[in-house]
Amino acid sequence: MMRTSFAILAAIIPLTFTFGASVENLLPRNTTQKQDLTPAQCCDGLKRILDPSKVLLPGSPEYAAQEASYYSGEQVLQFPVCRVAPTSPEDVSSIIKFATTSNCNFAVRSGGHMNWVGSSNIGPEGFTIDLEDMKQIELLDDSKTVAISPGLTWADVYTFLRPHNLHTAGGRSSHVGVGGFLLGGGISFLSLEHGFGSDNIINYQIVLADGSIVNANEAERSDLYWALKGGSTNYGIVTRFDMATFPLDQMWGGSLYYNISLGPTLLDYLVGFTERLAVDANGLFALSIAWNAANNDYLIWSPNAYLAPTPFPSPLYDGLEEIPTVRDTMRITNLVSVTDEINMSSPGGSRTQWFALVFKADATLPWDIYQKGADIMAPFLGKEGTSWALTLQPINVGMIAAAANRGGNPFGLTEKDGDLFLLLISIFWTDPEDDGKIKATTQDFLRWSTDTAKQRNLLNRFIYLNYALDTQPVLASFGDENVRRMKAVQKKYDPKGLLKVWKGGYKLDEV
Ligand SMILES: Cc1cc2nc3c(=O)[nH]c(=O)nc-3n(C[C@H](O)[C@H](O)[C@H](O)COP(=O)(O)OP(=O)(O)OC[C@H]3O[C@@H](n4cnc5c(N)ncnc54)[C@H](O)[C@@H]3O)c2cc1C
Repeated sequence: MMRTSFAILAAIIPLTFTFGASVENLLPRNTTQKQDLTPAQCCDGLKRILDPSKVLLPGSPEYAAQEASYYSGEQVLQFPVCRVAPTSPEDVSSIIKFATTSNCNFAVRSGGHMNWVGSSNIGPEGFTIDLEDMKQIELLDDSKTVAISPGLTWADVYTFLRPHNLHTAGGRSSHVGVGGFLLGGGISFLSLEHGFGSDNIINYQIVLADGSIVNANEAERSDLYWALKGGSTNYGIVTRFDMATFPLDQMWGGSLYYNISLGPTLLDYLVGFTERLAVDANGLFALSIAWNAANNDYLIWSPNAYLAPTPFPSPLYDGLEEIPTVRDTMRITNLVSVTDEINMSSPGGSRTQWFALVFKADATLPWDIYQKGADIMAPFLGKEGTSWALTLQPINVGMIAAAANRGGNPFGLTEKDGDLFLLLISIFWTDPEDDGKIKATTQDFLRWSTDTAKQRNLLNRFIYLNYALDTQPVLASFGDENVRRMKAVQKKYDPKGLLKVWKGGYKLDEV
């Protein structure tokens, strides 16, 4: 395709041009062909179709603040030619039309918490659409629904809902963004009873590849509605999520900390807890075995939440009080406080690698994976800023059934899978010199863990998008039939493949 000089393009823009001019006005009249622009020309073009103050350039404090807000220390160091901060679905529509017509590469950021480099930021080859100024939130439908814009974090959402004594199936860490969380599924404190966060979405407002702003719900575009529940960056930019609300006032929540010697006991406890979720799915007991540099040893952290003001509710928490803790912050409190506490445990800013694995609820395998991790991470752990954690949480049969009852999602889990554990390995370091070695170690660790789970006949094929490494075959793990359906939906709503210019996320084209 021919490159059009931006000087020529600029010359045809009417002198009376003001921002908000249509994208079509930026292109030569009667042109149906796409125009390839350089990234710098793309940013100049954005300034012409939007209020120029929404286009942030390197050197400005606003650009620097958005860059600094990523969770991953590597995403912080990707510098797009500009960042653009739309404030409305119409802005997003103009940006998509312009980017697809001009072959401008872009990435999209909501809360910036995805762990891998390039997932929601881009380098000099493009620009980043930062949704942070889309912060509308309102209750609809007699407060049964909350309409949430993608620039909000879960802290914003819960702070808004709290005076109404309401809750929704959002993140458990306050600074996580609404957009990425929900497009990867999203595991909430409500999930064990009500399914993934995305199973609790009633309607998506989305800007499609051609710039149209449409709704997807059970009645309208139900195929797209289904696919978006695990859709990543394949269908369009979601500009509003309408989610079901649930009553919640006070709750019991906080953290329990244990000596590492109690690992096997606690893993046994988690297996029993997961079984008891069949009786009461209002509580979450998770385990994180983490390197604690201050003590030069491992420590077990258990974030806990029960969605009623009842300490150690029976039968779900039977037996837990007898296991001795080294620290205990459990209290009757509210959701904002619990999600803030969890957020403090993982503040971000480091270089990081995460991977995810799902297997049958079993106490021995995760302990063996921890021991393997302790072994292969040992050479790195003396260095300041280097640590790692193994986090384990239940995906109970009730959660899978709840998803099916709400119309299903693309993840391919069925009740026949039984009670499962979701394992997250997260590795953190600060020295770029360690990038190569730690990334290679992560791959070895992933391979060993997967092979061991497979050999023991415990591995489930599902790979959880929100915790996965960029190299993990996340979409393929949903199963052939679901991938086929997702691709058909993509073909229907983006028949020309216009969204190929969107970088980051997990792409159906790569499956
Ligand atoms: C400290 C911490 C705690 C976490 N806790 C949980 C948890 O409790 N449960 C859980 O399930 N996960 C959790 N996660 C994982 C989290 O859900 C994912 O990292 C998720 O991608 C973060 O969403 P985000 O909007 O902040 O990320 P971003 O990096 O902004 O976005 C992630 C991806 O989604 C795309 N995207 C974002 N918004 C939109 C949109 N509106 N339309 C289209 N595409 C979009 C981006 O392009 C990117 O590819 C946690 C992560 C961290 C770092």
